[in-house]
Amino acid sequence: MTDDDGTTRPPEAAFALFGHELRVEILFALWAAERHSLPFAELQSRVGERDSGKFNYHLSKLVGQFVGKNGDEYELRYPGHRVIDAIRTGFLHRTADVGPVTLDTDCRTCGAALTFTYEEYVARVGCLDCGDIVVAFPFDPGGVEGRSDEGVVDAFDRRTRLCWRFAVAGVCPMCAGVVRTGLAPEPGPELDSHYTDDHPAVLAVDCRQCSFYNYPPAGILLCYHPAVAGWFADRGIDLRTTPLWALDFVADPDRVAVEREDPLGVTVTATAGGERLRVSLDESARVTALERTPADGESL
Ligand SMILES: [Zn+2]
Ligand SMILES: [Zn+2]
Repeated sequence: MTDDDGTTRPPEAAFALFGHELRVEILFALWAAERHSLPFAELQSRVGERDSGKFNYHLSKLVGQFVGKNGDEYELRYPGHRVIDAIRTGFLHRTADVGPVTLDTDCRTCGAALTFTYEEYVARVGCLDCGDIVVAFPFDPGGVEGRSDEGVVDAFDRRTRLCWRFAVAGVCPMCAGVVRTGLAPEPGPELDSHYTDDHPAVLAVDCRQCSFYNYPPAGILLCYHPAVAGWFADRGIDLRTTPLWALDFVADPDRVAVEREDPLGVTVTATAGGERLRVSLDESARVTALERTPADGESL
């Protein structure tokens, strides 16, 4: 049964469906099978439940939304895949810690090597000596699986910039919902220390559907602009492979200047090869102007 708005059951009831371990085991058995599909007897045998009545009862609770029926075969449907995905991200049932891992980039404040640490579901790149946080973002325990510490650091960098790219494109990386983005004044130490430290203005990202919200450095917007990427490429720097914390326009709060309060207007300055690129951003987080200057500040 589906309501006019597409609701098949209250979300609480959907969660309660997986209150019996046999139902989760059925999904995993189908996932492990060739073509994610099995006949009744084989599925029962792989789950290891001898009581056919009991097995059938629990299977029937999944049939429809999570498990489809195709002739004699039971097959995993898209929502069944997504339940497995949610479990495999690890946040429901496990934790993981990584680091501190010493990085190749030095702290802009005190010169010590930056470190990566992952604990309590949040990965942070910062300085253990002076306490600076350069960039921080949640990471799932499942992402630690099968990776070296250095591999986790690399995955954190790539995943974080992709999540922010989704958000900037107006699509929530968690739920596909509508994301509002814009520039915001520094949200205060309690909130911004979750993502970065001491930036006079940040990007504010807020999903209208789920709990995803964020205050990334405003400079992240430069990473997604083709003219900025081209400017760096011409100077031998590939923005796609340079870690976020090694990009001064992302990591350094001094590169961000508030030019106007209301509506908020901000410039972010990047440097490469003795030259500067000054990027103007408006309050809706759009790039409105690019100004190339030599490092001494004289306009070209
Ligand atoms: Zn430091
Ligand atoms: Zn969302």
